[in-house]
This record gives sequence, C-alpha cells and structure tokens, in this order.
Amino acid sequence: MRIVLVGPPGAGKGTQAAYLAKNLSIPHISTGDLFRANISQGTDLGKQAKAYMDAGNLVPDEVTNAMAQDRMEKPDAENGFLLDGFPRNVSQAGVLDELLTAGGLKLDAVLDLEVPEDEVVKRIAGRRICRNDSAHVFHVTYSPPKKEGVCDVCGGELYQRDDDSEETVRTRLEVYHTQTEPIIDHYRAQGLVVTISALGKVTEVTERAMEALGRA
Ligand code: ADP
Repeated sequence: MRIVLVGPPGAGKGTQAAYLAKNLSIPHISTGDLFRANISQGTDLGKQAKAYMDAGNLVPDEVTNAMAQDRMEKPDAENGFLLDGFPRNVSQAGVLDELLTAGGLKLDAVLDLEVPEDEVVKRIAGRRICRNDSAHVFHVTYSPPKKEGVCDVCGGELYQRDDDSEETVRTRLEVYHTQTEPIIDHYRAQGLVVTISALGKVTEVTERAMEALGRA
C-alpha cells in the first residue's frame, strides 16, 4: 500500500505511523525524522533545514523534494510506503503525483487525522521524545515515563524538540492551515481521503485507522 498521512502537528502522526507501518509491513517515511537525523549528524542538508524548522516554517521544496524522492527510491519502499510529513504543500503533492505516475504507481489512501486545536497545543507542550527512536513518544501528564527523562522502551534520553515551544507551535499550526490543509482538497478530488478522529487512546486510534484503510 502507498499511504499519505496528514494531520496537524501533535495529531499523533509519528506514533500512529510507527504502528501502521508495522501492521502493514511497509516502511515509515517521515521527512521530519529525516531532517532531524541530518541535523544530529551535522550534514549540509541538516544545516540548511534547521533554521526553518526551529522557526516552525517549511523547509524549501527543492531540499525537501530531493530528500523525499531519494528515500522513496530505496529498495525497502518498492512495494509500498507510509509517508508522514510529505507532501506538506500543494506543490510537493504535485511532485509526488508526478513521481508516482512516472513509475506507473498510485496512492491507495490519504489518512487524515483530525484533532481539535486546543488539544494539539496541550499534546505538544508536554511531548517528550526519545533520542534513540522518535516513535518512542511520551507526555509529561498524558503518558509519563516510569522514570522522568528516561525512555521506558529502550532507556534512551527523553528530550523536548526545539520546535515544540508554544510560540513555534502556533506558527506550525498556521503553516498547517494555510499550506498543508489545501492538499486534503487536492486528494479529495481524487477520492483518496479518509478522515478519522485522532482522539482517544493510541491503540483506539490505530484500530480506527486500520478499519478506515480497509475501506479505502
Ligand atoms: P509535526 O509534528 O509538526 O508534524 P514533523 O516532525 O513532521 O513535525 O516536522 C517538523 C518540521 O520539519 C516542520 O515544521 C518543517 O519545518 C520540517 N518539515 C518536515 N516535513 C517537511 C516537508 N514536507 N516540507 C517542508 N518542511 C518539512
């Protein structure tokens, strides 16, 4: 299956993507994770991306498209993938459409995770992520780790993302509404969009998502 995941920051895309990718046996491709890996490795690409990310803005399309294409062309993505964070504007969606068409491929579904704005801000402000694996996500009040600052899964150090401050979250939400939401209409016109609520327990949302994808 080829799936695109959309939803505002804090909707739980990363968390859900990890479970869904496992269930569906396809790689989870997260542009945010790819950028963060480049930043921590100090690559040129990471240096280019960091200032945009810290301000809550999108990294320029040329950089993003090339990185996403490169990842999608890896052998493990031959039979499908779950895209998380790409495309993030209409122009990127056009590039993805072209890439797929050129390969004689198409998307199966665009899974849209819906969550109210006040909930998003609460989720992000308390979010803590493991340095070893961004799928190991905790929240200081909603799902605290057993030991403060330490990942329950692997013992890694938990940290707060540089772009998870309240001020940056507002910018990210604004960018989501103005630039990313229009891609939902783009895909709705192709009959690909399935919308589910991202509220409730992580496992409940995963079940909802699997059920919705079954109908897609
Ligand atoms: P979020 O929780 O906001 O969905 P991500 O980890 O997906 O966070 O992305 C973090 C940041 O990485 C974004 O705010 C943006 O700066 C950059 N980024 C990720 N994907 C893209 C993309 N497709 N185009 C441009 N910038 C991107």
